[in-house]
Parts: sequence; C-alpha cells; structure tokens
Amino acid sequence: MSRFPDDYGKGGRVRMLADIADELAATRWETGLDALAPCVLAAMATVPREAFVPEEVRYLAFRNGPVGIGHSQTISQPFIVALMTQLLAPRAGQTILEVGTGSGYQAAVLAQLVRQVFSVEIIAALAHEAAPRLAGLGYANVEVRHGDGCEGWPEHAPYDGIIVTAAAPAVPPPLVEQLKPGARLVIPVGLNHAFQTLKLIEKHADGGISSSNVLTVAFVPLTRDLRDD
Ligand code: SAH
Repeated sequence: MSRFPDDYGKGGRVRMLADIADELAATRWETGLDALAPCVLAAMATVPREAFVPEEVRYLAFRNGPVGIGHSQTISQPFIVALMTQLLAPRAGQTILEVGTGSGYQAAVLAQLVRQVFSVEIIAALAHEAAPRLAGLGYANVEVRHGDGCEGWPEHAPYDGIIVTAAAPAVPPPLVEQLKPGARLVIPVGLNHAFQTLKLIEKHADGGISSSNVLTVAFVPLTRDLRDD
C-alpha cells in the first residue's frame, strides 16, 4: 500500500461518486431514478472500496466498472452497487440478506445503513477471505457463511430486504419466502452469460407479490454447486 498516498481512497471515492451520478443520468430513462438517496451516497463515500479489490489492481478500485477478485468472480461496478442499494431502500434497524458475498463490498455498503447483514457465498475461499476483511475494517454487523444462497439463510429469516449479486435464471422461491411482508428483493434475472434484467420484487402486507423491471444488466451467473476453488 505504500505506493498509494494517504488520501488515495478519499480522492478516488469523490471521482467514483461523480461517475455514478453520470451513469445514473445516462440510465434515467430506463430506471426512472433522478437521484440517489443521500444515505446511499454517504455509504458509498465512506466504505473503503480500495480494501475490497486485490492489491495488484488497487488502481482500478474506483473505476466505474467491475474488477476481478479471483475465482472467475468480480466486485460489482460501483454504479450497480449504488443502484441496487437504493432499490432495496435500506433503513436503520433492518436485517438484510445478501446472496453472493464476493469481496464483501456490497455487504459493507449495506452494513453502513442497516442493523445487520447476513451474506452467503458459494465459493469457500471468497467467503473465508471476505469475513476477516469485513471484521478487520470494523464491520461487526456482517455475518458471512459459505453456502448456496439460492436456499437463502432460513435461520435468520424473515428479512427486511434481500439482494442477489449474481444472475439467476429464475427467482429462487426460498428467497421470496424469506421476505417479511413489505420487504423487497433486488435480483438480476436472466440467462447465464447474457444480458439480464435487474428486477425489484416486493412482498406486500397481504402477502401478494409484485415485480418491476429496472434495468438491463450483465452479472456473473449464480451457481448451484458448493465450490472449494
Ligand atoms: N457482492 C459482491 C459481488 C460478487 S459477484 C461484491 O460486492 O464483491 C457474485 C458472487 O456471487 C460471486 O462471489 C459468486 O461466487 C457468488 N455466487 C454465485 N452463485 C452463488 C450462490 N448460489 N450462492 C451464493 N453465492 C453465489
């Protein structure tokens, strides 16, 4: 880290927020979103994204694009993290489930905003790296588990919101079941290795489900095999 100046993260995050605002404006006709909530922007401005990318490519930490984190996986693009966080409408006191811990970055952004984040990661090595990374940065309200997130995390259900950060061919029914009435599920749905549709699914107070399409996106696919690599 010695190659990087002390204010590297701070300056990088200012540029990153400007790029997020640009992309929000460019996608406004599709998302219908004019602005991000101040609390989402504050969380993105606070979490040290540079700590979640591999050291070798730390110079890419604030680029508005995904970055490889090994194991054929990526830390999602900052704009997408901001958008998905906003769609979840997180509030203090809530409990959120994330499927696809990856680097732990999205979990950290959520941890700034809610009481507790539970995050499931299918690749053992990533789960085992993300947990101490989050703890080391002081995110004591994130718990990471190695497992198949398509089953959710029933022990802590129901959730105030669920966020899936890999593309599913269809919405996994356990995730809908594990939503509280009034809760939201944000999930990219579509064929693997193609464009997908970012969906916002809401469970209403009467248990009814509604779904809307937010944006065309490109995520790495959800996998179903527990992987050790
Ligand atoms: N939220 C992450 C983005 C990671 S990319 C971040 O902020 O860095 C998507 C992640 O989902 C990958 O780490 C991948 O291994 C994981 N994943 C894929 N299928 C999964 C499944 N069925 N259950 C849990 N995690 C899964």
